[in-house]
Amino acid sequence: MGRDTVATVRVPAKVNLFLAVRGLRQDGYHELVTILQTVWLRDRVRVSASPDLRQRHPSLREVAVTFDHDQIAGVPIGVDNLCVRAAHRFLEHLGLQGVSADPDATVRLGRPATPRLSIRLDKDIPVAAGMAGGSADAAATLLAINDVLEAGLDRAEVQELAADLGADVPFCVSGGTALATGTGTATAQVLCRGEFHWVIGMSAEPLATPEVYAQWDELETAFEMHPDQVLQAVRTGDAELLGASLHNDLQAAAFRLRPDLAEGVDQFLVDGALGSIVSGSGPTVVALAADAAHAHELAGMAADRFDRVEVAKSPAGGPSIHRE
Ligand code: ATP
Repeated sequence: MGRDTVATVRVPAKVNLFLAVRGLRQDGYHELVTILQTVWLRDRVRVSASPDLRQRHPSLREVAVTFDHDQIAGVPIGVDNLCVRAAHRFLEHLGLQGVSADPDATVRLGRPATPRLSIRLDKDIPVAAGMAGGSADAAATLLAINDVLEAGLDRAEVQELAADLGADVPFCVSGGTALATGTGTATAQVLCRGEFHWVIGMSAEPLATPEVYAQWDELETAFEMHPDQVLQAVRTGDAELLGASLHNDLQAAAFRLRPDLAEGVDQFLVDGALGSIVSGSGPTVVALAADAAHAHELAGMAADRFDRVEVAKSPAGGPSIHRE
C-alpha cells in the first residue's frame, strides 16, 4: 500500500497597517481598502494523505477527512473549523466529496479508514483576535493538500478556492505585504523594504468580527481615507512614518465594545511607541517600536496590561511548505 504522504505548512498571522471601511454593500459584505502584512507569529498545519487518495483512482468518490488539535479553547473541532472547510473545498474542486470522520474512531478500528486526509493543527496565533488565525489555517490547509496530492494548482488557483472560505484567506495564501480591496479578497502585493518591530498585546476574551462590523454599521459613516502614507512608509522602511500613519476604521467600533482596548492603545503611546492600533476587528492591540530593543522595552511595560504579550517582526513572508 505504501506510506502516507505528509506536508507541514507554517503560516503567519497578519496585522492591518491600514483599514478603511468604504461602506456596506448590497450583498451584506463591507467594501474595504486595507493593507495587510504578515508578522512572525505562526500556526502549523500538518496534512497527511493515504496512498490510495494520492493515486486518485477514477472510481474514487468519497474521502474521509479527520481533524484534530489539542483542544485549543475557542477553536471548533468539526466541520466548522476552517481547516476542515478548506479540505472539503479542495476535494470538491477535484470532484471528490469530503466526509468528516472522527480520528479516534479510525484508530479504534485498528486500521485507518481510507482513502483519508488527516489534518493536525498547532496554534500559536491567538484565536478570534483580529490576526486572521483561522484564515491562515485555511490557507495552510489548501497549500498542504495541493502539495500532498500533487494537484498542481498555482498560487492564483489556490487563491480562488481561498476566496470562498473568507475575506483574509487569499492574502494568507501569499503573505508578505498586500493591498486588499473589495471585500478583502482582491489582493495585490506591495513593495516593502526593511523590517518593522511590533509588540502584540493579546486579550484572552475574544471579540467576534461580525459584532464589530455591526457596531460600525450602527454608528459610523464611510469617508474617503487613502493609504498613501502607509504605502510610502513600507516602501521606504520608515518606521516613524508608519507609526504616525497606522489607521483602522474599525477601531472606534471595537473600543465601544471593549473600552479597555482604548486604554491599551493610549498606554502604548504614553510609553513611547511610534504608533499603536487595534489589529483588524480586535481585540489584539499592536504597537510599533523603533527597533528590537525598543520593542522588548515596550513589551516589558505592557506585560501586566494584557493576557499575553509577544514581540514580533514584520513582514514574515508567506506560508512555508515542508514535505516530510
Ligand atoms: P480575522 O482577523 O480574519 O477576522 P480573527 O483572527 O479575528 O480573524 P479567528 O482566529 O480566525 O479570528 O477566529 C474567528 C472564529 O473562527 C473563532 O471564533 C472560531 O470559532 C472560528 N474558527 C474556525 N476555524 C478556526 C481555526 N482554525 N482557528 C481559529 N478559529 C477558527
